[in-house]
Formats: sequence, C-alpha cells, structure tokens
Amino acid sequence: MASSATPAELVVENVVKEYLTPTEPLRVLAGVSFSLRRGENLAILGPSGSGKSTLLSILGTLEPPTSGRLTLSRENPFQLAEADLAEFRLENIGFVFQEHHLLPQCTVLENVLVPFLADGVATTDDQHRAAELLGRVGLAQRLRHRPAELSGGERQRVAIARALVREPTLILADEPTGNLDRSTAESVGRLLLELQAERNAILVVVTHSEPLAKLLSRRMELDSGRLVPTGPIGFPTA
Ligand code: ADP
Repeated sequence: MASSATPAELVVENVVKEYLTPTEPLRVLAGVSFSLRRGENLAILGPSGSGKSTLLSILGTLEPPTSGRLTLSRENPFQLAEADLAEFRLENIGFVFQEHHLLPQCTVLENVLVPFLADGVATTDDQHRAAELLGRVGLAQRLRHRPAELSGGERQRVAIARALVREPTLILADEPTGNLDRSTAESVGRLLLELQAERNAILVVVTHSEPLAKLLSRRMELDSGRLVPTGPIGFPTA
C-alpha cells in the first residue's frame, strides 16, 4: 500500500503537447501535471478529442512532449537515445489496448512471450512466468489455444498477461474493456486492478466507461488541455 512517505514513481510536470498544422499549432495538452506512487491508479476521462490518447502516448514514451517533463523511477526517458528508450519502454511499461492485438498464428503462451522476444529469446524461466501468469488470469487450460478459439474476454486476459509479463512499473490501458459486454468488462476491469495491486505497479486507464472508472481510486478529466478532478461519477454534475 502506498503511503505518503513513499516517493512518487511517475512524475508529470507541466506537460504541453502541440501538433503542427498548416495554420497555427494545435495545443492539445496545455500543462498537465500529476504524480503517482507505486500501487496507485488513475482513470483519465474526457470526451473524444480531448487529448486522452495523446497523454497516454506521452506517458508510454511513444511521443515526446512539446515542453514539460516526465520521469519514471527518477529517469527522464526522453533524454535517452532511441535504442535505450525502446529498452526502457520494454522494461518499465506495459500496454493494454482496446483491441487485444494478439498474433493470430501464435498460441496463447507464445503471445504472452512476445515481450521477451523484442530484445532476446524467451528463457525457460520466462516460459514458466508466462504460464503462471496465464494461470493467474484464469487461462491455465488454454495455453496451446489460438486467439480465435477464445472469447473476447479471454483474449483481453491474454493481452493483460502479455502487458504484465515483464513486471512493468507502469501499466497503461486505453479503453481496455471497450469491446466487451458489461459483465465481462467488469470482470476484466477487476482483474486488471487486482494484478496491479499484487504487483504494486502504477496503473493509468483512459476510458469513456464510468463503471470502469469507478473501480479506480483516482479519477481526473481532460478539459481544455488540462487535467481536472471529475465530478461525482453516476450523478449529474451540473
Ligand atoms: P482523444 O484520445 O481524447 O480522443 P486525441 O489525443 O486522439 O484525443 O486527440 C486530441 C486532438 O489532437 C484531436 O483534435 C486530434 O485531431 C489531434 N491530434 C492527435 N494526433 C495528432 C497528430 N499526430 N497530428 C495532428 N493532430 C493530432
């Protein structure tokens, strides 16, 4: 459990992101600041076009901010050379997307081993770890199955196992339950939170789903490029 004595692991300071357009620059993030300790989680809400994916890309070190600073475990990843940045991302950040992006020709186990192949080979230890994690997400009997043989919820459980197999400090999820029916979405959302807590990782979820956002301990909304506290969820805010 994070205490106030624990230093923040993810620190985002005054992040601005502008995209160049033929006329004037489009300012999507206008100074976003927040910090999270290990074990903490945050839901980011906001209407379409408010900059949620842009912020998630910056947190995921896929896009540099125009200005401002981000540190994860006291390292500023945007100061790293490109190859070091790719390694940093692989070791520290796990991504869960709305689409599972599993490789259809590979088995469930092979899909979870993919993050080890990016910078080497999967060792026997890695294979044990992947199989154990697949057991933890309820798929022990499905290791040799292909994604097409699984339900939508099961495929998303595989995607979660793949995101967590290298024990990332930071888990980023973009509408992770967006393609699932209500009850499956709830069980997948709860599983993601349980795994985050067990690993004492940080979880940031971007979502339109209020039931999912309600499961997280902090909720903020992107409004005119800034992160502001949301109104009480489930009640009219006006
Ligand atoms: P959300 O995820 O909340 O829907 P996005 O972060 O995708 O919002 O987009 C925020 C704004 O930035 C939108 O107006 C979008 O058109 C614009 N945008 C996103 N990516 C680019 C880009 N690469 N170049 C120019 N504009 C972009």
